[in-house]
Order: sequence, then C-alpha cells, then structure tokens
Amino acid sequence: MAAESRHQEVGHKSLLQSDALYQYILETSVYPREPESMRELREITAKHPWNLMTTSADEGQFLALLLKLIAAKNTIEIGVFTGYSLLATALALPHDGKILALDINRENYEIGLPVIEKAGVAHKIDFREGPALPVLDLLLEDEKSHGSFDFAFVDADKDNYLNYHKRLIELVKVGGVIGYDNTLWNGSVAAAPDAPMRKYVRHYRSFVLELNKFLAADPRIEICQLPVGDGITLCRRIS
Ligand code: SAH
Ligand code: CA
Repeated sequence: MAAESRHQEVGHKSLLQSDALYQYILETSVYPREPESMRELREITAKHPWNLMTTSADEGQFLALLLKLIAAKNTIEIGVFTGYSLLATALALPHDGKILALDINRENYEIGLPVIEKAGVAHKIDFREGPALPVLDLLLEDEKSHGSFDFAFVDADKDNYLNYHKRLIELVKVGGVIGYDNTLWNGSVAAAPDAPMRKYVRHYRSFVLELNKFLAADPRIEICQLPVGDGITLCRRIS
C-alpha cells in the first residue's frame, strides 16, 4: 500500500470543536452522575495551588466505567496527588478490591484521605510514600506478583513512563490493561518544536513523544490513544 493512502486526511481539528461542547459533556453526562464524595474531593482539590494536576471529572468517570467493564480487582496507581483518580478507582472496585497507590508525596494524599475514608473505600488502598520504580522492582522479585494486576494507571513523572512500562508489562496479567495518562501532553506532541511552550511542557515533551512511539511499536500490547483529559493511552497486554 502506498504511504499516502494509509494516512487519511483529517477534516477537522478535533471532534470537540469548542469549550462549550466539553462543558455540555460535563453538565449532561458527568456531573449529574459524579458520586458526592468525588464532587467533594474535586472541590477541595480545586483550591490546591497545583490543581492543574488533578484528573478531570470526565476522565474519572471513564476510568470508573473501564474498571467495571474489565471487572478489575487488583490495581496499581502511580501518581496519586489528592486522590481523585484513586477515589474513582476505589469506588469502582468490588468490596475486596485492592489498589497499590504510589506517590512521593503523602501530604497531598492526606488532603483527600478524609473524603476517601468517609466514602467507605479506604480499606482497599495500600498507599506507599516514595518513588514508584523501586516498589515495582521489589514486586518483580516475587514471582507471585507477576501477572497479578488487572489494571495499572500511570499518572506521575513522565520521564519514567518507559521504565514503568518495562516493569508493568510483567506485573499486569495477559488481558490486563495499563493506562498511561497525559500522552497528548497539553497538545504539545503535535506542536512545532519551536512553538512557544511552558518550560515544564517543553521539558517532558520529548519523553512523551518517545513513549508514544514505543507503545505504538510494542508487539506485546494492543493500544488505543483516547483524547480524554490530556490524552490517555490504553494498553492491553496480549503476551
Ligand atoms: N492521578 C492524580 C494526579 C497525579 S499528579 C489525580 O487524579 O489527581 C502526578 C503525581 O505524581 C504527583 O502527586 C507527584 O507527587 C507524583 N510523582 C512524581 N514523581 C513520582 C515518582 N517518581 N513516583 C511516584 N509518584 C511520583
Ligand atoms: Ca494526569
């Protein structure tokens, strides 16, 4: 097949042509169904100086539905912040579900913890403060943990995503799913290299580009990159 014919022309910038359309989704399908505890945590997090890092309500809803669709029971989350995606996960898992939650910062987790406790799902969470990579390495030392996770959500230091992938591909079961968050990186992945960008966006951009290329070529997974939130790439382990 000629190279040109494999690349179909894109006739519009995005399906979401306006902020109003995004607002429509939130107001019609997301906010009316957002659990009270998640709304409370979202409102608390909005006051945090780093609130930009939180998972959006529509992405939280997406994660929760996905976890139920795959009937996830044992999951791992890398990058907790105040816990919005963690709470979405904890609510979606069955009563005996488990989440290994990793973050270098416990303080922010503790901002959300009272809400998580009030929601009655704190018993599902095993929070560990510290860098995620050594925890994954420790898990890999135990043969029993290989293929033991149904789902992993990666939402932390972008320069380590490929290191996480190398380990998570062993820890998640065949048929399990890894979700990498922020894979559209503020839209910068498609911007010209000399386009104006915030410093941190520019800094991590090359890592996100490298990750996206790697995932697209990795034969051990099937992938789907969704324009939800800042872009989430779902990877289903097939071997
Ligand atoms: N999922 C969260 C957002 C995470 S923001 C939510 O829904 O709100 C990114 C988080 O990654 C931050 O809390 C940061 O402390 C954490 N982080 C950064 N480097 C890390 C590392 N090496 N290991 C674990 N967590 C890390
Ligand atoms: Ca994110």
